[in-house]
Amino acid sequence: MIVRDKLTDIVEELALANRILAHEGVLDAFGHVSVRHPADPGRYLLSRSRSPLLIEPDDILEFTLDSAPVKPPKVHLYAERVIHGCIYQARSDVMAVCHHHAPAVMPFCIAGKPIVPVFHLGAAMGEDAPFWDQHDEFGDTNLLVVKQEEGNSLARTLGKHSAVLMNRHGATVVGGGLKELVSRSIHVPKRRVSDARARARHATAPVSRRDQARRLAQPAAERCNEDMGILEHAARSERRHAAAP
Ligand SMILES: [Zn+2]
Repeated sequence: MIVRDKLTDIVEELALANRILAHEGVLDAFGHVSVRHPADPGRYLLSRSRSPLLIEPDDILEFTLDSAPVKPPKVHLYAERVIHGCIYQARSDVMAVCHHHAPAVMPFCIAGKPIVPVFHLGAAMGEDAPFWDQHDEFGDTNLLVVKQEEGNSLARTLGKHSAVLMNRHGATVVGGGLKELVSRSIHVPKRRVSDARARARHATAPVSRRDQARRLAQPAAERCNEDMGILEHAARSERRHAAAP
């Protein structure tokens, strides 16, 4: 019997999470997803700079929470990896982070409109997501988050929330684990699409606070399984494809 270690499993899950989020239109060529190291909370795992749809376990690298690679890399790294390190430093409860520029969220990032949960899956994300404008603290920039102080500022605005919108840039979503993060990252853009379509029909009453509280009271793993069990489903489907002649 082969006993696999936890790190091997989480590296494979992270590679799979990249491909799922790319397939779902959440990650484009520039988005990225990370997970805290399972044995060392002072490190996190993130792929080398590569299209998320192509990420394999061999692409996954280890970083300190200062976003320095643990081993000198021979490959290109994501410039915005400080987003991940700064959030892991600020939030000990966060085990996974996704930063993306999904087309579905961009109109909200540009308009700076508050988001409200308008259907039950959206409520799992929490009551609201704060809005971070890099210009407030740093003036004119290229809108990329590449300095520690920029990452720390973003983490402060995220606070205890599950997601933060970034002015004219994208969004950053956090989770207590990879499954929760993948589920949440997929539903945030869907929630915005539903919200926008409902607005067009003048029907945007938010989910009631009582319903949201009940939804959030469910254990995260239960919510994810109920919503889709997406990692298991995708892994099974990949295995079926791999086994096909
Ligand atoms: Zn970005």
